[in-house]
Amino acid sequence: MNRHQLYNKYKRDQEAKKFYNSKAWEICRTNVLIRDYYLCQECLKNKLIVVYDVVHHIKSRLEYPELALTEDNLICLCHACHNRIENAVETKEKGIKLIEMGANPEII
Ligand SMILES: [Zn+2]
Ligand SMILES: [Zn+2]
Repeated sequence: MNRHQLYNKYKRDQEAKKFYNSKAWEICRTNVLIRDYYLCQECLKNKLIVVYDVVHHIKSRLEYPELALTEDNLICLCHACHNRIENAVETKEKGIKLIEMGANPEII
């Protein structure tokens, strides 16, 4: 990372900190937790009861700041589901197709 990128990252982190410490987020997050029964909604779809770890922005907070406090844009997820979803979004954005490890060992 160069100085410019570092500075941008610092600014983004500061901004994120301010957002997640805000009263508005606190209220919004609480409403979503109650709505989702404090459970991971992805796991629930698969009939698994898993307590949430994070409140995730379905549409990225950075790309859609106007939806940052919209309850319909928020969902409770466990770490496993959250990682899977964040990775899927990132992969889609970069246009990279994930090759399943070990699927075709003869090619690799
Ligand atoms: Zn889950
Ligand atoms: Zn997330």
